[in-house]
Amino acid sequence: MKSNQLALTFSSIAENVGIARLLIASVGGQLDLPLNDIEELKVAVSEAVSNAIIHGYQNQANRIVYLNLEVTSDTLKIVVKDEGCGIRDVEQAMQPAFSTDPERMGLGFVFMQSFMDDLQVDSVVNVGTTVTMLKKLQQSSSASH
Ligand code: ATP
Ligand code: MG
Repeated sequence: MKSNQLALTFSSIAENVGIARLLIASVGGQLDLPLNDIEELKVAVSEAVSNAIIHGYQNQANRIVYLNLEVTSDTLKIVVKDEGCGIRDVEQAMQPAFSTDPERMGLGFVFMQSFMDDLQVDSVVNVGTTVTMLKKLQQSSSASH
């Protein structure tokens, strides 16, 4: 599997969630991942990017979201970063069905956790939040043919 790095920097508007989904879908396609895995990656990226926009930036449109993708021989790493309000209690925020917004389901982190092999959330109040997700890739057998 060829190594690859991609960075997408975009305004904190809902329209860009779809662009982030397209990027991860095309990287997943290049990696020959099964369609189901690509669907799961799209959901995980959507949830992290939506959280950055909705919670991190509290729906202010003029802020910046950072999406970084890194492919190595055995791992796809996805990093979604905002410079927004941060999370006071990360452990609590990651609990299933916990939300600071009564209208929401509180399932974003649950999806990220279940669809990815590793999820790490680093957050500092008033500095921002970085969500790092890993997906293990099958070792390529291309060396043998
Ligand atoms: P859903 O994702 O189901 O619409 P939700 O966004 O509230 O609901 P999660 O995505 O699991 O649920 O997030 C849980 C909580 O963590 C949020 O309600 C919010 O308080 C906090 N949170 C998540 N991401 C961020 C972020 N980037 N910046 C600040 N707070 C965040
Ligand atoms: Mg969410």
